[in-house]
Amino acid sequence: MSIRPDFCDRFRCRAADCRHSCCRGWEIDVDARSAAFYETLPGELGEKLRRSLQRDDDGAHFVLTEDGRCPLLRPDGLCELICALGEDALCDICALHPRFYEDVGDTELCGLGLSCEAVCALLLGSEEPLRFLDEESGALLTMEELLWRLGLECDTTRLSYGGEKPSDAFLARLAETEAIDADWPAELAALCAALPGLPSPLPAGPRYERIEQMLLYRQLDRAESVGLEALLDYAHESTAFVAACDALYGPDAEHLRRWSEQIEYSTENVEILLRKRN
Ligand code: SF4
Repeated sequence: MSIRPDFCDRFRCRAADCRHSCCRGWEIDVDARSAAFYETLPGELGEKLRRSLQRDDDGAHFVLTEDGRCPLLRPDGLCELICALGEDALCDICALHPRFYEDVGDTELCGLGLSCEAVCALLLGSEEPLRFLDEESGALLTMEELLWRLGLECDTTRLSYGGEKPSDAFLARLAETEAIDADWPAELAALCAALPGLPSPLPAGPRYERIEQMLLYRQLDRAESVGLEALLDYAHESTAFVAACDALYGPDAEHLRRWSEQIEYSTENVEILLRKRN
């Protein structure tokens, strides 16, 4: 069985119009097949690719420019490789992003990562309850139905964010995560300082239910190792954090995108947030 959130088919990369290109700020690993292909390319592009590739014990990756951009990212925001050779020339990680695939038993959970602004806009562009498409049967499942199909029993009342503030324990764990950039610690400190003065309850409703369910969905492959209760806490507290940012600065999909790039793309950071409370 293969499952995906109902909005995935509408995803379109914003390419040159993206304010947070995924071709900036991340180290881009290049799979062995693509690195070997790049070695064979003739001409100026081949030379540039070879200059841009660095190899170490972990394999090959692109050396980012001084301002943290992929060397193949053109000033107009387009990818030089795609423009010259088409999408088939992309290495695996660039071809995949922002999609993800996780297995839970014999079910493949597919999705789109929330560090991408186009994905956040799709998720938050609707107030309809989030549904998950079973690609084989065409059935649209609620999160409760999906959990049941995966054999993950759950108290369904836990799946509805109600405007709670993030707990002190969660914020303390958040402060332990490795910062994605120099701005994150100051952003977190500002939120923590403002939190006691924010109205209670925080904003709630369909927008935050969609966020909570998507955050849970992304981590379901961990249910067997950490337990569903821990994942529900993680999704609930993370949603509360995004709601607090919305309360402080005004609703903005950027708060979710920023949270995602800080947490969801670091296995270690997710594990810190999933750690049991003492
Ligand atoms: S972050 Fe999303 S919209 Fe922006 S370039 Fe990457 S895939 Fe495209």
